[in-house]
Amino acid sequence: MDAISQLLCDVLDEVRPDASGAVADYIPQLASADPDRLGLAIIGPRAGISAVGDADAAFTIQSISKAMVFALAVDRWGPDAVMQKVDVEPSGEPFNAISLEKGTGRPANPLINAGALAVTSLIPGADIVERSATILAGFSAFAGRDLAVDEDVYRSESATGDRNRALGHLLRSYGIFTDEVDDVVETYFRQCSALVTVQDLCVMAGTLAFGGRNPLTGERVVSERSARDTVAVMSSCGMYDNSGEWLLRVGLPAKSGVAGGLIAISPSQFGVGVFSPRLNARGNTVRGQMVLEKLSERFGMHVFEAHEAVATPEVAIREDGDELRVILGGELSFSGVERVLTRLRDIDLPGRSIVIDAGGLAQVHPMAIDVLRRQVSDSDRRVRVEG
Ligand code: GLN
Repeated sequence: MDAISQLLCDVLDEVRPDASGAVADYIPQLASADPDRLGLAIIGPRAGISAVGDADAAFTIQSISKAMVFALAVDRWGPDAVMQKVDVEPSGEPFNAISLEKGTGRPANPLINAGALAVTSLIPGADIVERSATILAGFSAFAGRDLAVDEDVYRSESATGDRNRALGHLLRSYGIFTDEVDDVVETYFRQCSALVTVQDLCVMAGTLAFGGRNPLTGERVVSERSARDTVAVMSSCGMYDNSGEWLLRVGLPAKSGVAGGLIAISPSQFGVGVFSPRLNARGNTVRGQMVLEKLSERFGMHVFEAHEAVATPEVAIREDGDELRVILGGELSFSGVERVLTRLRDIDLPGRSIVIDAGGLAQVHPMAIDVLRRQVSDSDRRVRVEG
């Protein structure tokens, strides 16, 4: 077993004895889930999936689907159009609350049921079948393999879905959508019933973590902007009425589902999927949360942790007679400019022309080159940017 998998196994072993919480019991398929199942998978930018525990156990994606459908809607329509139908404010309320804006009926955010229904209504399709097919195709692109719907779970969700149906009617009464309520609500039940494993979940999370590109297949699934917006909403609203404390303590944008699945993201670093069916009172997986807390702690993954070397450009300086060539690689951020200037400080600049060779940069932040150019410019020096 490779070192990463070994480490993940250790984390699972630590949380395994905890038997607190209870499996969801609003439908028989979830009530009969094996409560001891525990699986974990992680994907980084290069080495593929590391998966341990019950890594092949299939379960329904449930509310984790809300993040992906939001990403698909933003990708299709842009953030402003989507935000006309749904706000992005943490509701501080349970997942199935009637959190609608006074007057407009706009749901508080896309990751509670009311908001998810509004977002599902934005997915194009003439009927339930077409819309569901578009969503499932989107999920499959996120996961990097063809996913299927658990028809039994779907039927149960539909048979017991009066509260969601009621939310649908409320939304329609406010004009949030004009479709038949069933077209939207049944599509939502189908999206919740997609079957996944933790391996699928980590690739889906990874696709969001790596700017909308699937780290397994290399396919662009959604735009960079859509991925960023989705991760932003996950960080403020992904854990329902526990989102604030989660962000403070764990600091990994995440989204949970009632079957016991949980995804989390470290931007540009990894996507993770975890599965453990016992839930706490807020409907989040107990051991799944513990696993992420431990990973965040051990890897220093809190999003707001300060990093010495974040976006550090590589700098090579070549002196060629009167010309000074500053060859940059990696990522030049706003703070990275400082590093380049520090390197230049010990070099005698007067009278020389400077070439900033930016061709090797993987990522340049707006303004960084401009700031650099201004810093090294003076009245009699020529500064040229290449690449
Ligand atoms: N299908 C469930 C519902 O809408 C999903 C909820 C969840 O995962 N929290 O009630």
